[in-house]
Amino acid sequence: MMNSADINQQQLLDRFLQYVRIGTAANPESDDYPSSPGQLVLGKLLLNQLLNLGIADAQHDEHGLVWGTVPSTVNRPVPTILLNAHLDTSPEAPGDGCNPQVLEDYNGQEIRLLSGEVIDLESTPELASLKGHTLITTDGRTLLGGDDKAGIATIMQCVQHWMENPSIPHGPIRVLFTCDEEIGRGTKHFELCKANSLAGYTLDGGGAGCIDEETFSADGATVTFRGRNTHPSVGKGKMINALRAAAKFIDMLPCDQLTPETTSEREGFVHPYTIHGGVSEVTIQFILRDFDTSRLAEYAQLLRDTVDKVTSAFPGLTADVAICVQYRNMADALRKFPKAIDLAEQAYSDLRITSRRDSIRGGTDGALMSEMGLPTPNLSVGQYNIHSVREFASLNEMLIAANHVVRLMELWVQ
Ligand SMILES: [Zn+2]
Repeated sequence: MMNSADINQQQLLDRFLQYVRIGTAANPESDDYPSSPGQLVLGKLLLNQLLNLGIADAQHDEHGLVWGTVPSTVNRPVPTILLNAHLDTSPEAPGDGCNPQVLEDYNGQEIRLLSGEVIDLESTPELASLKGHTLITTDGRTLLGGDDKAGIATIMQCVQHWMENPSIPHGPIRVLFTCDEEIGRGTKHFELCKANSLAGYTLDGGGAGCIDEETFSADGATVTFRGRNTHPSVGKGKMINALRAAAKFIDMLPCDQLTPETTSEREGFVHPYTIHGGVSEVTIQFILRDFDTSRLAEYAQLLRDTVDKVTSAFPGLTADVAICVQYRNMADALRKFPKAIDLAEQAYSDLRITSRRDSIRGGTDGALMSEMGLPTPNLSVGQYNIHSVREFASLNEMLIAANHVVRLMELWVQ
């Protein structure tokens, strides 16, 4: 049975606007946890809101993660399910001072932001299908942070809805807001026993009706070249320039394939994203990505083979390649527990919303949670153009996400 009361759309919008105004950009340069103080400000606000909604065990833990449990409304043992979203926003575009703009009854045309920046139909073809929606953009100077405050607002509004409508059937619902997802530290302080759930969902996806069941598998690689510096005046026969070696190394890697610039869909890549150093030493950071986990070893071998060619061309140069595991394709874990995805699909179909299973060319906190033993697919929550000043969100699709989650939690206790 569907619940009679509707989820309050105005409150959902107000929450979203309140949350995006708090700057929570993750800072990859910081070793602090969380990496930026705004995440603690938002976490504290959410703690207080959860307590005010009657979530007695709400907690803002020593790492800045927010936890809480919506108590079960059924009189028998049923599984606990986790709902997760992340507090931080991407550092790839300015995040502080977000000035959200609400566009009611959107007309389907290109959107000119106050800064002069334009969200056009060519680069954002999804706009055509959003005619009539309430969209939230920025003024064009910052990102919006709908990634992932759309997820936070949706979960918080669901919590309010459940607490105000105790006749809606559901089991214990564990709510978790994590920090620093965007810089790969989202599950650093995640505790499986504290989640104590059978399955989870991250609400951190684009559009509506998507169930992300796959992520990339991901490794990081650090390539270091060590040369020998001398005064340039006496460099003859003595200097070994690690900078030249590094330049040659990058140049020897494929650039017409295996790069983010030349791949899409299910193709993987080997991506150098930062370089530091000088004559005596250079380090280059890479990310290695593929849906097929076994290919990561091939990518690492490509780096080692290329390094060997470079070192043999520069006598005296030494080099090494260090690989670190980042996360694994969550499909591997989800296949063992298909119910998490099957019920998400059924909940969409019960709401007469077309759904599709999708894969993410990236990772989610859910990928790491799934690997740890908590199957956690990702669900749509109305995000668009994330990590950009052209980011926007659809209130209508956040509302769909909220209704979907409420239905999904009913299905878990049927
Ligand atoms: Zn996200």
